[in-house]
Amino acid sequence: MSDSDEKPKTPEIYKCCNNPQITYLAPVNINIDERTIGSVDVWRCASCMKAFCEEKTLGIDSISDIVGMPRIENDEKWAVIVSKLQKGKDKWKLVKLKQNGMIKFETSDEKLIDLKIEDYKIVDDFHSSFLVLDHIHTAVEI
Ligand SMILES: [Zn+2]
Repeated sequence: MSDSDEKPKTPEIYKCCNNPQITYLAPVNINIDERTIGSVDVWRCASCMKAFCEEKTLGIDSISDIVGMPRIENDEKWAVIVSKLQKGKDKWKLVKLKQNGMIKFETSDEKLIDLKIEDYKIVDDFHSSFLVLDHIHTAVEI
């Protein structure tokens, strides 16, 4: 019964445009000391080319409980924030960044802090970021 399809199943369709054709694109692996500790799954709509991302921590199969595509606004980009203060899986988090302004970021000890964004990048002494779509099919060392 299985077509031995290793790609995650496409979750229920979120209407990004009039003719959504969302398919799985690629993972971006998150590495620490060359060991993959998690990944971001990237889907893309073939009609409007909008991308959708989902955070995955290694060992947790989350695809089946997705009820819809994570939404992103037209003025936002998918990014990963990396904390220099944390270790292991708490060191990174998938977020949506606007081009400029501030983002509320929840730390692993559940404190809400403000981080400054400049040109889709976090500018902070203890946090950095990268854009997910710049690293398709690669591993990013954090
Ligand atoms: Zn679309």
